[in-house]
Amino acid sequence: MALKFPESADECVYFTRRAIGTGHATVWVYREKCPKCKKSLMGKPRGDDGSIKIRAKEYVCPDCNNTIEKKEYEESLTANIQYTCPSCGNTGEKQVPYKRKKVKGIEMLQFTCDKCNAKIDVTKKMKAKKEAAEQSKK
Ligand SMILES: [Zn+2]
Ligand SMILES: [Zn+2]
Repeated sequence: MALKFPESADECVYFTRRAIGTGHATVWVYREKCPKCKKSLMGKPRGDDGSIKIRAKEYVCPDCNNTIEKKEYEESLTANIQYTCPSCGNTGEKQVPYKRKKVKGIEMLQFTCDKCNAKIDVTKKMKAKKEAAEQSKK
């Protein structure tokens, strides 16, 4: 299976590269077309000034205004994963439903290594870390 890498971040609702122990994973999720009119890609709504509302809790279709709640839309998408297993060193690619679960209060996307069946967790980036990174940029 050869997964197609996105050409730009605009094609994705999610893209991350993460070191996991001695392994690593790259995960990306493509935006998909509106399930109602099948014409346009669903996207975050835009404000009156035309800027995208990143924090919006829903996705809208720019063609027919179909609105789907963020979680529901994202869970209908497919996560593409390229990984090196931290347990056995196997390098592989796979696709799983983009359904995150919460473990100990941390949201993660979990998948298993095709070779050794180890569970590999791609956790959501910590808020504190993100804020620290933004601070250092200033
Ligand atoms: Zn539509
Ligand atoms: Zn493995």
